[in-house]
Amino acid sequence: MIRLIQIDPRDNVAIVTENAPKGTKLENLVLLQDIPQGHKVALMKLQKGAKVIRYGVILGFLLEDVEAGSWINEKMLELPELPPLDSLSYAQGDKVVLPKPVMTTFEGFDNGPEAYAGTRNLLAITTTVQCVSGVVDQLVSQIRSKLLPKYPNVDEVVAINHAYGCGVAINAPDAVIPIRSIRNIMRNPNFGGEIMVVGLGCEKLTVDMLLPPEEINEENVLMLQDYPGYASMMEALLTMAETKLQALNKRKRVTLPLSKLCIGMQCGGSDAFSGITANPSAGYASDLLVSGGATVMFSEVTEIRDGVHLLALRCVDKEARDKLVSEIAWYDAYLAKGEVDRSANPTPGNKKGGLSNIVEKAMGSIVKSGRAPIVEVLGPGERPTKKGLIFAATPASDIVCGPSQLASGITLQVFMTGRGTPYGLAEAPVIKVSSRNDMQKQWNDLIDFNAGGIATGEESVEEAGARLFNLILEVASGRKKPYAEEFKLNNFLCFFNPAPIT
Ligand code: CA
Repeated sequence: MIRLIQIDPRDNVAIVTENAPKGTKLENLVLLQDIPQGHKVALMKLQKGAKVIRYGVILGFLLEDVEAGSWINEKMLELPELPPLDSLSYAQGDKVVLPKPVMTTFEGFDNGPEAYAGTRNLLAITTTVQCVSGVVDQLVSQIRSKLLPKYPNVDEVVAINHAYGCGVAINAPDAVIPIRSIRNIMRNPNFGGEIMVVGLGCEKLTVDMLLPPEEINEENVLMLQDYPGYASMMEALLTMAETKLQALNKRKRVTLPLSKLCIGMQCGGSDAFSGITANPSAGYASDLLVSGGATVMFSEVTEIRDGVHLLALRCVDKEARDKLVSEIAWYDAYLAKGEVDRSANPTPGNKKGGLSNIVEKAMGSIVKSGRAPIVEVLGPGERPTKKGLIFAATPASDIVCGPSQLASGITLQVFMTGRGTPYGLAEAPVIKVSSRNDMQKQWNDLIDFNAGGIATGEESVEEAGARLFNLILEVASGRKKPYAEEFKLNNFLCFFNPAPIT
């Protein structure tokens, strides 16, 4: 059945869920032309110069008069000007009343009064350099077989292996990004404050760049070059790991307020329905979480770039706005250095799918942040100082955004997809949300949550969002494992390194 989907009550256009022939009656509209799937139809008579509003924002200005029921395509819109980065208004977002969640607690691993709680209880072994990763992989497998069965409260052991650490310009200005990402990922709430670092001994990334002096000791740090051979280093590593496991095993899930929960949102392999189904339901779930006191991070600079002025309006203060501007300006310069065309205009495929212009494309991505005000903006891998909705500036690349958000402290990630990806993280559970019913049918044992019912009228954005909110709390509380966690589909940690390799 063909349906009309209006995203925001302020919208004067809606999209059709299937190819809709001229004459089709949809609610109180009669279509005046054939309208392709995912494309916009005018909900009222609009005159030349009128604002076309979708997602509650101005997509553009009409170049001609249209009647209710007319197709509005990319050729009929004049783009609103993208405000320059140096004059963005802030703290002027609409006064939004966020929906109230039915539940405001979850069962997590407490990390003390100020810290976020874990959703999992993991032993993390951080490496300073790729050279040690082979040894650490063997260590992890020995811990799993020999030690882990003795410590039933510990969920898993994970190696923080990465490609950084040596052969890099360690003092280059942009090296702060990978260094702080590795330093901060060790503090992820899922690791319970237990520090275990394995280094080689001659690498550029030295332990003092990762730990404060009081934590650099034999209990936390082991350098392989200090040991006479493999057997001896492995024995010492297992001894160190066992001490950490004993401490972690004392942790038990307790009922905690949502203010102790910090999660991330990401999308990848998006399609025309992502901005209609999966992302809006994630946005509604995000609003419920934020309204209940939780912290939600969203990211992916290149996918919000063209809606940056709208995010600035939602920044609660000048500090957040200024940080947003500096992070975006840094990213613009980073892309320009690589002579990359940001290519903000939608692709022909996007236009075919109904995305008329760059604003509409960005809004489909931004909508996953819901409507809450933005309390803080973080650089890649930085840790938050505030609770609520946070923009954590990271690349849009799935496998780079994931580790960045982990370094910023997320303990669970919600991942929206239209085309499908088996993406997962060893360090935090990942809930996979599909944008279409067909996607879920195809990947029944990889997709945890299907938002496609919004397009077919089986449920509303609010219903799907509330259902997703419940699933997030089920997974956060350890009552449910997403498929990627169940099958251990763990992506390599690719930390963002914009600095030179030497
Ligand atoms: Ca992504």
